[in-house]
Amino acid sequence: MQVREGMESAVGNCEHYVRRCLLNTPCCGKMYPCRLCHDRNEDHEVNRFEVEILVCTQCRKDQPVSSHCKYCGILFGLYSCTKCRVFDDNDHGQFHCEECGLCRKGGRENFFHCKQCGICLTKSIKDSHKCREESGKDKCPVCFDSIHTATEPSLAPKCGHLIHMKCHRLIMEFGHRRCPYCNQDY
Ligand SMILES: [Zn+2]
Ligand SMILES: [Zn+2]
Ligand SMILES: [Zn+2]
Ligand SMILES: [Zn+2]
Ligand SMILES: [Zn+2]
Ligand SMILES: [Zn+2]
Ligand SMILES: [Zn+2]
Ligand SMILES: [Zn+2]
Repeated sequence: MQVREGMESAVGNCEHYVRRCLLNTPCCGKMYPCRLCHDRNEDHEVNRFEVEILVCTQCRKDQPVSSHCKYCGILFGLYSCTKCRVFDDNDHGQFHCEECGLCRKGGRENFFHCKQCGICLTKSIKDSHKCREESGKDKCPVCFDSIHTATEPSLAPKCGHLIHMKCHRLIMEFGHRRCPYCNQDY
């Protein structure tokens, strides 16, 4: 078996995913278990949609993006999305939303894509949420990260200012029951 230089350290799973392939990141030509590992180690972000080559961690052969190794046949992940280059054995109810152009967690059956907001929201608020054009492009009022690119779903409170579910949990734990953005009650 041919082991390529510098690969040993990169082989195996990372804290983010359980998978059997590495990504060859085109921006710097390195090998990473996932894009999050790349972004943490480099001073730039990888565009996951530009990753064209995977390396199988079992047979170490590089190949075009696919759900399984074309040489040894191993599945790269029980869940795989070749569009997003996501491979994962952990079951988070991942699904790919064509309209978001991204994989999300939490089970397809629990979400609908709101065309006006431009994002997937939980079905329970389908008729009650306050629709706002492209509200999915907002930043979360707690962590200021993007609502749209977060894999975890977001909540749409009465005021319509979207917030990550985990950030909502966090401020609730601190007894804060108002929207950090407009101060309206949740
Ligand atoms: Zn890079
Ligand atoms: Zn990782
Ligand atoms: Zn293989
Ligand atoms: Zn996807
Ligand atoms: Zn969507
Ligand atoms: Zn909406
Ligand atoms: Zn947040
Ligand atoms: Zn608000």
